[in-house]
This record gives sequence, structure tokens and C-alpha cells, in this order.
Amino acid sequence: MKNFDQLKNLLSSPKKIVIVTHPRPDGDAMGSSLGLYNYLRSKGHFPTVILPTEYPDYFRWMRGTRKAILYNRRKEDADAEINQADLVFCLDFNALKRVDPIHNVLEKLDVPFVLIDHHLEPELDEFQFALHSIKSSSTCELVADFIELMEGEWPNLNKDIVHCLYTGLVTDTGNFQNGATTTRSFELAAKFMKLGLDLEFIRENVFNTYKEKRIRFLGNALLNRLVVVQQLKIAYISVTKEDVRTYDLNAGDTEGLVNYPLTIKGIKVAVLLKEHGDIIKLSFRSKDDISVNDFARKYFQGGGHKNAAGGKSSKSLSATIIEITNLWKKEFA
Ligand code: 5GP
Ligand code: MN
Repeated sequence: MKNFDQLKNLLSSPKKIVIVTHPRPDGDAMGSSLGLYNYLRSKGHFPTVILPTEYPDYFRWMRGTRKAILYNRRKEDADAEINQADLVFCLDFNALKRVDPIHNVLEKLDVPFVLIDHHLEPELDEFQFALHSIKSSSTCELVADFIELMEGEWPNLNKDIVHCLYTGLVTDTGNFQNGATTTRSFELAAKFMKLGLDLEFIRENVFNTYKEKRIRFLGNALLNRLVVVQQLKIAYISVTKEDVRTYDLNAGDTEGLVNYPLTIKGIKVAVLLKEHGDIIKLSFRSKDDISVNDFARKYFQGGGHKNAAGGKSSKSLSATIIEITNLWKKEFA
């Protein structure tokens, strides 16, 4: 880790610490932030988690979520916390511009920034301290590494920390099935089991949490919103504003949807397009050597990982689908 000894020294006395993660936080963003929050509290620090936007209901069980500040709701409170911080941790994203508009206040701060992240192409110059590895399955995996480094040995973590960190591990590896899964991922799962990880608790609180409307939405999306272009090995699912109203969709309710088209034989790229205010939020998933990170970065102001990335478009749903299809033909067909 970049400058670790200096950071360890800084953390040897109680500090006010702000933890920031990316907008529309997923299991890894939430698990790593709340996992680190609970660890830092157990060490006598005063951490505050700042979330750019709403988090899914199914992460409410994580200890500390009620104390987290939503930036889109309580900007003044969040800015006050940020301005009093001795140290800022940035988790599961790697460039300050990604946390728009929080970056406006972060960029003016004169305190050390710590990066813990596993996404491609980090802006390392923005961070005095960095634990960054694109080989790690999840930021939760790296937070476990960070805690082990701090403790000098594998620690005796409490169940709150174990459940938070396992959540990012199991969600970012797609239940230990995708290419991000490493021997370290399984090793950590085993270590977490030894510390009392309750798999049923995770299953019931993270995965089996659908409201009736959400599962009917999934049915409708697969039946009526899925477009498959076999020739180009690409498939799209659109989520309209009307769907959001009809099915009462909240944060996290489209999570996982983009993975379904990849279960169709021959399909190598899946795109989820979701109307969100006056932009379209894009999620890309791919197989093998196809880099949706490059594609999202080059054309849609986004990024992420080779096989899982996001971005945005300011065109309409149908125009965006046409644009992606044309760009895709140009790049890959
Ligand atoms: P998802 O499609 O699940 O929202 O995101 C897939 C991956 O891409 C995640 O690791 C996420 O952090 C990243 N990602 C999603 N949207 C963006 C974006 O707009 N910019 C960047 N740089 N990364 C994104
Ligand atoms: Mn992640």
C-alpha cells in the first residue's frame, strides 16, 4: 500500500474520518463503507459515512446505515462533516469527479485522502494513500486486506464487520462465479465463516428481499423490454420512467437485471438502459476479452471493470440503443 506506515501512524490516535463511496451504492460500495466504518469505530475513531445518493433498502440492516448522511438530501450536514474531517477515505471508486457534486467540496480540503478501490485507471495523484488493485474481486476484499495490514495479523472481526465485508465479496463476485473471483475471495469467505458469518442471514437480507412488484417488473422487463441482436452478440434491456412508476422501483431494484441477457447462448454483451431524470444511466456487462470499460470510458463518460462498467447518455432511449449498436459495429463487428 502506498505510504502505509505514515497512514498507520496517523491512525494511531483518534481521528474524525469521512468515508465516501460512489453514487447509487451497490453491495460492495455499502459493504466496504459500513465495514470500514464499524472497524474504525471499534478502534476509537469517529467515522461518518457519506453516500452521494440513496442506497437499496436491502442494505439497511448494515450497522451504521441510519447514521450515514445522504448527500442529495442533507448537503449542508455532509459538507460540515467533510470540512471537519482529519482524513477522507474513498471507497469503491477512484477519481473524485465520479462523486459529483461532492468533489467540489472534497477538492478544496487540505487533509490526506485514502483510496481503497479495485476499478481500472485510478487517478492516483488525488490520493496520498492508496490500496488499489484491479486483481481484487471487490473493495470489501481490499478493506479486509487493509484491516489485516493495520492489525499486523488476521484480526478477530465482529459480526457487523464480517457481514458487511462478505456482502461486497458475494455481490461483486456474482456469488463467486464471475472472472473477478480469486483464491483470496474464497480464502476470505472461509475466514469469515470462522468468524461467524451467517449465510442464511445474508441470503434472506440481501438476496431474498424482492417486493411482489419487483419480481413482476423483472418478468415484464424480460418479456417486453429485452431486445436481442444475435448477429452482433448484443442484447439490451430498457427501463422507462413509466416502468419506474408502474412497478414502484426504488434504489437497487434493477440490480442484477443486466446479467440476464448474458445467460442467452451466444450473447457476449448486455446493456441495461435506465431513464433517470433527463439522462439515461447505462450498465454494461460482457464476456471474455470484450472490454466494456474501454467502451464506456470512450463513448459514455463512464468506466468500471473490463466485464462490468457503467456510463451515461443524454439522448433518448431509442437513440441511445441506435448509437450503441452503431458504435459496437464500428468497434467490434
Ligand atoms: P453497474 O452497472 O452495476 O452500475 O456498475 C458496474 C461497474 O461500473 C461498477 O463497478 C461501478 O462502480 C462502475 N460504474 C458504473 N457507472 C459508472 C460511471 O458512470 N463511471 C464510472 N467510472 N464507473 C461506473
Ligand atoms: Mn466494487
